[in-house]
Amino acid sequence: MSQKITASTLRIGKRYRAERVDDNYDAIVIGSGIGGLTSAALLSQMGQKVLVLEQHYTAGGFTHAYERNGYEWDVGVHYIGDMGRKSTGRGLFDYISGGKLEWAEMDPVYDRIILGDEQFDFVSGKENFKDSLKQQFPDEADAIDQYVELVLKTGKFMGNISQLKAMPNMMGKLMSLSSKNKLPDYALDTSYNVLKGLTDNEKLIAVLCGQWGDHGCPPKESTFLMHALIAGHYFNGGFYPVGGASKIAETIIPQIQASGGDVFTYADVEEILVHKNTAVGVKMVDGHCIYAPTVISNAGVVNTFSRLLPQAVSDKLGYAQKATALERSMSHVGMYIGLKGTAEELQLPKTNLWIYLDQHHDKNVAALRADPNAPLPLVYVSFPSAKDPDFQRRYPGRSTIEIVSGPCDYEQYRQWADKTWGKRGDDYEALKQDLSDRMLAALYKQMPHLEGKIDYSEVSTPLSTSHFCRYEHGQAYGLAHTKDRFEQDWLKPATKLPGLYLTGQDVVSCGVVGALMSGMIAAMSVVGLRGAGELLKKIKSGVVI
Ligand SMILES: Cc1cc2nc3c(=O)[nH]c(=O)nc-3n(C[C@H](O)[C@H](O)[C@H](O)COP(=O)(O)OP(=O)(O)OC[C@H]3O[C@@H](n4cnc5c(N)ncnc54)[C@H](O)[C@@H]3O)c2cc1C
Repeated sequence: MSQKITASTLRIGKRYRAERVDDNYDAIVIGSGIGGLTSAALLSQMGQKVLVLEQHYTAGGFTHAYERNGYEWDVGVHYIGDMGRKSTGRGLFDYISGGKLEWAEMDPVYDRIILGDEQFDFVSGKENFKDSLKQQFPDEADAIDQYVELVLKTGKFMGNISQLKAMPNMMGKLMSLSSKNKLPDYALDTSYNVLKGLTDNEKLIAVLCGQWGDHGCPPKESTFLMHALIAGHYFNGGFYPVGGASKIAETIIPQIQASGGDVFTYADVEEILVHKNTAVGVKMVDGHCIYAPTVISNAGVVNTFSRLLPQAVSDKLGYAQKATALERSMSHVGMYIGLKGTAEELQLPKTNLWIYLDQHHDKNVAALRADPNAPLPLVYVSFPSAKDPDFQRRYPGRSTIEIVSGPCDYEQYRQWADKTWGKRGDDYEALKQDLSDRMLAALYKQMPHLEGKIDYSEVSTPLSTSHFCRYEHGQAYGLAHTKDRFEQDWLKPATKLPGLYLTGQDVVSCGVVGALMSGMIAAMSVVGLRGAGELLKKIKSGVVI
């Protein structure tokens, strides 16, 4: 295995310097995740001049990609649903990217759930999905039909609830009383309990919950609502951005620049400036202050209310306590692998593998929480170079694999948190080596022909996520998607502080499309009811300025 490491070169956005910043922005967005970029692009389409400030060296948040040693990997974009048809998400992506973002469909089998020695395929298309499962569970045909209908019905509630989050307070409250907008009780029950109501077949339940890593809560902890959002999102298959994940930020930024705005990287915001009980701008880590009548935070609610907003303001409005009381989502370890040879030569599929020890998801997670040396309960494998039809043009004769495993306990890594990235010492490297061995063992069990083929690999830990995306415990999905979280009616774009808005995965849900939607409703909140109507019309017409 070659270990000579060459630097990462993929950089989207302009490097921040105080003197490069104008003094007449209409809005400032803290963070360039998909929620932040979406809000910025939509406000720009409404004629606003928007400044996006990103602390990392490249824009995109979890949608960024990086390059090292002649390979490129994405970080938080393995597959996105509903990009092959006229969906709200696809329409929004088309609009904010000026039609420049293209999508490649994965294999019809988008996810393969592996429980020990058995495997089950999730096939694109509602009927294909059901047929494939019915072949393996012939006695469960009714339960499978009912499951699919329940997933689709439940997912629809979230669309309505998201729209209500953009409404002015009183109107939103009144409309939430309508039965069409009220979540049924079962939606916030656990996925396991709801599925148990459909079938007693524990293996089928484990298979249907086989994407739990997409939101981070195993079946007895997750809400059925979140389960349904994810499962339904992929019923029409999985899609990958042509040219890799970095194309997302790269194609959106020109729309922000078209109205005079910009996206700066290495732009670390230290504080949200408040004057006369109103957010009026931000102070950068270098001390430079930038003013605008609207400040939108994409930094996550914990960062926003416990780090960025002055403590006294956050306490007075009750946000500091609320944000810190909520559970954080799981953190994870990742493995980024480079191989010589094309996807075809290496027989890399356009299907994600979800490798589980057996059907006992919750028990296996509990065992790992009790002992970090216990077998890894979830090893997820993605083959981005196989999914991206443009990869061979950029990296001829090369391929990549990504592995995600978890959940991890941040406490296990805290002792190295203050050490510099890349120089955390031999004990940290030994821990990463051990994780690498364990993840590769799971991969080789499924694909023994890959043994000896790896040219380069590296492991990320929750410290990497914390360093690059600023989640203090390296959490993958912001706030945990538990019942408690979905009951917080303050998780919406407009805050109690005039001028301050929220966007990103903590507002609606995690997932690229969840954060994309939050970006839309944040922009709608900023422009008000009449502006929101105009904005929606523009999005539907697809005409970009
Ligand atoms: C391993 C992994 C795999 C995933 N796979 C998928 C997938 O296959 N499909 C899918 O749909 N979703 C996936 N997701 C989830 C998805 O990527 C995220 O939910 C989504 O991208 C989050 O977007 P966001 O708008 O909340 O912003 P984030 O991506 O969280 O970005 C927030 C940004 O704010 C910046 N920031 C924070 N504080 C400051 C500050 N003080 N100053 C300046 N900038 C600041 C951060 O640096 C960061 O760039 C995955 C996530 C992970 C971790």
